[in-house]
Amino acid sequence: MTDSELSIFEFLRARYDELEQAANAAKTARRPWYFDHVDDAAKPFVDLALNPDSVLNDLASKRAILAQHRPAWRRMSWDEDAAICDTCRYDNGLDVYFFPCPTLRALAVPYAAHSDYQEAWKP
Ligand SMILES: [Zn+2]
Repeated sequence: MTDSELSIFEFLRARYDELEQAANAAKTARRPWYFDHVDDAAKPFVDLALNPDSVLNDLASKRAILAQHRPAWRRMSWDEDAAICDTCRYDNGLDVYFFPCPTLRALAVPYAAHSDYQEAWKP
């Protein structure tokens, strides 16, 4: 395993920290002036997007998922260890996913345009 394979964990935590900081900073902001001019059909979506508490709840959920998909080491042969997901299994639980697992890769997709995102993380 390379450092880059492990860093998806740090990458996601950094994105969540940034978003959490922005959401907390926005808690005291007033609704923007243009909200009254948003189409009625779009208001629920815009209102949700502008709700820091909603963003913070979403982040708490993602952090909980992240905590469940930690790397673990498995002996693959007499001279080789590999990082696997401590949670994810397939083939009726008989086989494991290498780290980062599909769940972590899916969590990273919204940040694919970030300069630190790595192509190797694509699902
Ligand atoms: Zn996993």
